Amino acid sequence: MTDPGDGRLSDEELVRYSRQIVLREVGGSGQLRLRESAVAVVGAGGLGSPALLYLAVAGVGRLTVIDDDRVSLDNLQRQVLHDTASVGEPKADAARRRLGTLNPNVQVDAVAARLDAGNAAALLRGHHAVVDGSDNFTTKLAVNDACVRLGVTAVIGSVLRFEGQVVTVPPGAPCYRCLVGEEPPEGLVPACSAAGVLGAVAGMVGSLQAAEVLRILLGAGEPAGGRVLLLEALRPRLRAVAFPPDPACPACAAAPRAAAPIS
Ligand SMILES: [Zn+2]
Repeated sequence: MTDPGDGRLSDEELVRYSRQIVLREVGGSGQLRLRESAVAVVGAGGLGSPALLYLAVAGVGRLTVIDDDRVSLDNLQRQVLHDTASVGEPKADAARRRLGTLNPNVQVDAVAARLDAGNAAALLRGHHAVVDGSDNFTTKLAVNDACVRLGVTAVIGSVLRFEGQVVTVPPGAPCYRCLVGEEPPEGLVPACSAAGVLGAVAGMVGSLQAAEVLRILLGAGEPAGGRVLLLEALRPRLRAVAFPPDPACPACAAAPRAAAPIS
């Protein structure tokens, strides 16, 4: 369906994406840029679901879904990518199937593996941006460290109860490890399973992550680095709070001086 490689949008694409092509920040050239972009999403859960849905329908050409979990019944309250019929199925496979029905122009690669510090660079290399929707610090720091080293923009999200945060880390900006330091001891930060989370709030955070990725791919708006977006859904309000680089950050010390080209 996608016009293969001649640098033009097909008639189908012009209609499908017409509401965003009319945006000055997108246009035909921006839409082509999205089509040529590759984004990895770590975790096809409460944050990864809305992020993947919006990236797929916006026409990001290649999406890699990384998740080693299977769909369970208590996921469905917030993980809107999955449905009742997919309970028991690997989330990466369920995600690929659903995204394929939403937008067959998008190539979706399903990786049913757990990302860790050992395989993160291999899994994330070759993408233009990475969305982290994982539910633990170990994975978030592995994503952060690999992206900083690869020179790939990371958009790291988290949600708990009625609060969420999004940290965008473009190459050269203060990173997620600069913000949070070392991994907190196990049990200090409660998990969603114990503390609870409202699905709509997870949806807001995942949508913010998708919007950050799209505007970075398009080069639209203000530079994204050095700020954490804090969402408080009970008040409700959204704030951007600046944070400085940590001169002792080991991840930033391992960063290349210039952004690495996409291979
Ligand atoms: Zn850092």
